[in-house]
Amino acid sequence: MSYNKKYIYLDNNATTEVDSRVLDLMRENENLYGNASSMHLVGRQGESALLWAKDQLAQTLNADTSEVIFTSGATESNNTVLETMRYLIDRKATKRNKILYSTVEHPAISEVAKYYKRIGYNVVQVPVNKYGEVEPKTLESLLDEDVLLVSIMTANNEIGTINDIKTLAKLTHKVGAYFHTDATQAIGKIEVDVKDLDVDYLSLSSHKIYGPKGVGALYIKTKAPYHALLIGGHQENGRRAGTYNIQSIIGFGKALELSRENIKEENDRLWKLRERLRKGIIEKIDEVVVNGHPTKTLSGTLNMSFARAEGESILLMLDLNNIAVSTGSACASDSLEPSYVLLACGLDIELAHGSIRFSFGRYNTDSDVDYVLSVLPKIIQRIREMSTR
Ligand code: PMP
Repeated sequence: MSYNKKYIYLDNNATTEVDSRVLDLMRENENLYGNASSMHLVGRQGESALLWAKDQLAQTLNADTSEVIFTSGATESNNTVLETMRYLIDRKATKRNKILYSTVEHPAISEVAKYYKRIGYNVVQVPVNKYGEVEPKTLESLLDEDVLLVSIMTANNEIGTINDIKTLAKLTHKVGAYFHTDATQAIGKIEVDVKDLDVDYLSLSSHKIYGPKGVGALYIKTKAPYHALLIGGHQENGRRAGTYNIQSIIGFGKALELSRENIKEENDRLWKLRERLRKGIIEKIDEVVVNGHPTKTLSGTLNMSFARAEGESILLMLDLNNIAVSTGSACASDSLEPSYVLLACGLDIELAHGSIRFSFGRYNTDSDVDYVLSVLPKIIQRIREMSTR
């Protein structure tokens, strides 16, 4: 069997390669230097590109163009939603004071929430089940008239588990609270329709959908409260100040347009790759555990734990073999703390330490999987032998 000798990138949940069609459009517009807020021709050229990209964004989410703003990424979008709530509480614009978020949220939610808690706000975690899923009945038991916001991610970046956002948002609205979802990992992978889900706020990012880095967006339902995080110029109708990063926004627009194509076919293709790898690993390596939900999962995400093998050692040895994967989340990979997501799912600490996330994307093929399966068993065997000496 001949293997593809190129670097095999199986870390698409951390970030994606920019699609060549996105790059082409950005290059075509590389000299579009006009400030989209200027009234002259050069400015208007920038503005028309901005409006085109905004239309792509609105179409992707089934939102109105007035309900979406560009940001620097999902981190900023998430922070903006939480800051809006803090503003309402501080200004006593609401009698409610409680913020709920799940134990498996990305640090762009959880670290902000923990900071709020440290400085005295009422912030409560919503536990997940063993698959990393927020069960509606668990959320229901924590909802009361004090809750101002519930923030639960659409799909988890480490294990791929998909939440039933529609049901969770409905329960939240029953007690009169707002609902935010971080859909960064879901966009382009599953249908995300803000009207159908009936969420009040939704965050997304360009670099997870084959677009450039440093640009993302926030959906804010008409009439949902809003407080700008960045104050200054009147861009985005005063909702997000700062001159538009027009080339990146154009690239994001193209990435959004492409993300709507063939979602189902691409999902089927990624699921086949994931299953080929999952079955191959189980066949060739003993003492492995698959983390996350068996079916309610992003089709291209496979998170597995290898007993008696450190995730970091596996990652480094795969890297020496030209394969990129991740342990826990990329943002936590400079620490040797076990994944908080896996611990929240109740996995024991040793297995949480031995976890690897393989995340497939647009450019992966069967031969990538076969190559991984040809090197991984020897790597695990070597690590296990070393650790038992
Ligand atoms: N939320 C989730 C679920 C993510 O996976 C990420 C990226 N790791 C972020 C937020 C942060 O996105 P960005 O890099 O655009 O700030």
